[in-house]
Amino acid sequence: MIDDRAWKRCAEFHGHVCGGLAIGFQAARYAADLLGRQFSKDEELVCIAENDACGVDAIQVMLGCSVGKGNLLFHMRGKEAYSFYDRESGRSFRLLLNDLPEGVEDTMEYFLSSDYKDLFTVKEARPFPRPAELFRSYRCACCGEMTGENWIRLVNGEYRCLDCIEEYDRFNV
Ligand SMILES: [Zn+2]
Ligand SMILES: [Zn+2]
Repeated sequence: MIDDRAWKRCAEFHGHVCGGLAIGFQAARYAADLLGRQFSKDEELVCIAENDACGVDAIQVMLGCSVGKGNLLFHMRGKEAYSFYDRESGRSFRLLLNDLPEGVEDTMEYFLSSDYKDLFTVKEARPFPRPAELFRSYRCACCGEMTGENWIRLVNGEYRCLDCIEEYDRFNV
């Protein structure tokens, strides 16, 4: 059975209810079950999502893995897959959404009424990401705005931010 209050909180945050939100909701519940913990106040829980669709909103609400805290990261592969890491216990795993059975018409209803253990395959987590680095800042000679050196290019000997350069790619005509 789903926890109605939790689902409502996800819907409020996301703005509507949909099948994608239900996937993230069930992934978050499964992860909490496997890890034996709930909401992450700090950064003890880390999630790497392989898509940036509706489901990640439920993960933010349910588990406290959020963009702003830096414990929700994106490894964009367009897959319905989420790796979770518990920094305290060292446990980690990846939840990959199983194929839908044929004939499912209302995906949201299907995801919400299924046992989350039947919805996902538990796999090995992706490698844990490198720690965030601090970069020196430089001023773009074109727009005058500051940005980190990882996002700076040299154009005619001047620093440029990525919005002020033209990409040079001879294979992309
Ligand atoms: Zn949605
Ligand atoms: Zn610029």
